Amino acid sequence: MKEYYLGLDLGGTKILTGLADQEGNIIARSRRDTEAAAGEETIIKNMILTIEDVLAKAEVNKDQIVSLGIGSPGPLDATKGIIIENANLPWKNVPLVKKMEAALGIKTLLKNDANAAALGEKWFGAGRKVDNMVYITISTGIGGGAIIERELFNGTNDNACEIGHTVIDPDGPLCGCGKHGCLESFASGTAIGKRAREAAAKGLSKEMLELADQIVEDINAVICAQAAYQGDEVAQEIFKKAGYYLGIGLGNVINIFNPEMIILGGGVMKASDLFLAEALATMKKTALSGPLEIVSVKEAELGSDIGLMGAVAVAMEDRLVKNG
Ligand SMILES: [Zn+2]
Repeated sequence: MKEYYLGLDLGGTKILTGLADQEGNIIARSRRDTEAAAGEETIIKNMILTIEDVLAKAEVNKDQIVSLGIGSPGPLDATKGIIIENANLPWKNVPLVKKMEAALGIKTLLKNDANAAALGEKWFGAGRKVDNMVYITISTGIGGGAIIERELFNGTNDNACEIGHTVIDPDGPLCGCGKHGCLESFASGTAIGKRAREAAAKGLSKEMLELADQIVEDINAVICAQAAYQGDEVAQEIFKKAGYYLGIGLGNVINIFNPEMIILGGGVMKASDLFLAEALATMKKTALSGPLEIVSVKEAELGSDIGLMGAVAVAMEDRLVKNG
């Protein structure tokens, strides 16, 4: 009997599920709205519907599935299989693994989305040939995952590699976590949007205000990037500054992990030409020369499938480490 794996990328607005063969090739996929506002039962029902959909499409039976991997925004307890809470999903302390296993009878594994993405890039993306790598996602927040000797480094209670909350300047801006001056408070999409609104409110950028129809509150990182590409120097400077702080973060990652590769992903990377050169220049100043010599910095390869392939890699990790 042929064996298969399921990967489910759980997002605040959509659920994307794929059925993969033993090599990790996606042979069927299904997408549905999460319907987060409708609550826990509806979200879980929608997750199950996507799974039933891919099984039907591929004419595969449940008993041919080795395991289901779920990538979800955190914070969560991966070992216990519990989602602790989430800004975009209205749930608290949901024993998701237990619920999915009870509903489906399929072994279920849960990881936070950044850790899952790290596994995805390791096994199916830019990190295929390396044993030690760190994945960093720069999006509304900054998250990451470290692969050490081919395996995800989870930490003692699954909170390792919260790169976004490493403190760059304790007197810096307030971060969503309650501390001050975390990397995320300087270099995330949210931080870039905030700097942009502050600059526009001071009357420093006509361009950004024009792009937002004169409504300061509507200015975000995307508008800041548009203005920067149109030549707005204030917007360009905001991205450069974010790049500078990201570079300090990269230097710290290099000095701690001595990775062969750092892979950068997340929505903000779409504007990488506005900040990456500054980040790399700063990284070279902050990293020690030994580990700096061998590290390469690459862009993530999986694109919009990173969440899905990450979830598949979560389901397949044991097999991949053994056979890969
Ligand atoms: Zn923080």
